[in-house]
Order: sequence, then structure tokens, then C-alpha cells
Amino acid sequence: MTKELAGCARCPFDTKERLCQTEDGKSPAFCPTDTYQAAVENSLEELKKPEILEFARQASIQEAHGYANKDLGYTHVKPVKPRILETVEFAKRMHYKRLGLAFCLGLRPEAKIIEKLFSTSGFEVVSALCKMGRTPKEDIGVRDDQKINIGCFESMCNPIAQAYVMNSEKTEFNIVVGLCIGHDSLFLKYSEAPCTVLAAKDRLLGHNPLAAVYTIDTYYRSLKSE
Ligand code: SF4
Repeated sequence: MTKELAGCARCPFDTKERLCQTEDGKSPAFCPTDTYQAAVENSLEELKKPEILEFARQASIQEAHGYANKDLGYTHVKPVKPRILETVEFAKRMHYKRLGLAFCLGLRPEAKIIEKLFSTSGFEVVSALCKMGRTPKEDIGVRDDQKINIGCFESMCNPIAQAYVMNSEKTEFNIVVGLCIGHDSLFLKYSEAPCTVLAAKDRLLGHNPLAAVYTIDTYYRSLKSE
């Protein structure tokens, strides 16, 4: 019998009833806690590597430090830190000295502020913008009518080159700011250092892609039929 695709996003049970939350919890046929026990065991093996274990441990500690009122009980817990502060704190916890900032041309004002924030927090910051190298889009087979500014020179985004810069400079942790869909994927694939995404590009929604999800029943209802 073919195994069903893992489908936590479709889980029908309340959070507290779920197998991943409670030892005798409920699980649907597509539950990876049930059907992917080997994956969990293999992940625990991987976590025996000291550097991976420390990364995971500090990420969990950072997660809990993002809340206040823990002493008052779970219902009183509230978030207190923006992601950018969490990123600074996590990098400090990991004792990183040199960070990479891979950003989009369209977010250069933001990148300037972010760079300053990290450098004044005690880090060396290596930054590279998506258009670095000034390679024409034609070099990857993009036609003139497929550009944004038709009839003009347009530099391709080169996330692989951005990653190579970070790799050469031996950055310890790379921060992605506003790279386009797909370009971000290539950066993440070619970066040697672990990465985090500070901002996911969404040109229309002020880099808050979830705004379309939050308003799916009102302004973005058309997405449900597209
Ligand atoms: S791990 Fe299983 S129980 Fe938990 S959300 Fe996924 S499908 Fe549901």
C-alpha cells in the first residue's frame, strides 16, 4: 500500500489532542509522527553532532526568550521581541563574529539600516546585493520582452554569486533580506553558512506575504478561486 503524503497542515485534530503533543494523542493516516519514525530517529542522530546540537539548542532557548510572563502561566505568555532583535540575540548566543547580509537592490535603504544595526551590535558584516556582477539577463536566456525595463540593459539577480562572496569571506551566519522567490532558493542552496530569512520579498504587501493569507476571506478572496 502506498504511504500517504505527510500532511500536518491538514491535521483535523485540536492541537492538544494531537499525537505530536500528547503521548496517547490522535493521528490521521498521513501523520509523520506515525509514518516517519525513522526520519525522527535519523534527525536525533544528526543532532548528536556537537555543532548541530548547539545550534538547535540555542534556537530553542532563543524561541523561549521571545516571550514574557512565563512565570504567570501559559495563558499569560506574550511575545516581546521583533525578529530582527531575535536575530541579533541568536547570533550572539552562537558567538558569531562575522555575518553575511544578502539583500535585494529594492531593499537597499532597509539593508543600510540592518547593516548598521548588526555592526553596532558588535558583528562584522559582509554584504552583497543581488545585482552584483552586472551580468546581463540575456546571459541566462532571458529575452528583452521578459525584462522589467524592456529595451534597456538589465542586470540579472545573481544569488549564487552572493553566496560565493559569503563563502569566500567565511561568514558564519547569513541573513537574507528581500531576495526574490527562486533567487532566495538559490542563495540558500549555495550558501555554506547556515542562513536565516529576515524578510521575505512581497513587492505588493510590504514584504509581509501573510497579509494575503490573513485577508483571504475578504480582500484576497479571489486567491481561493485562482
Ligand atoms: S504530526 Fe501527526 S498529529 Fe501532529 S499535526 Fe502532524 S499529522 Fe497531526
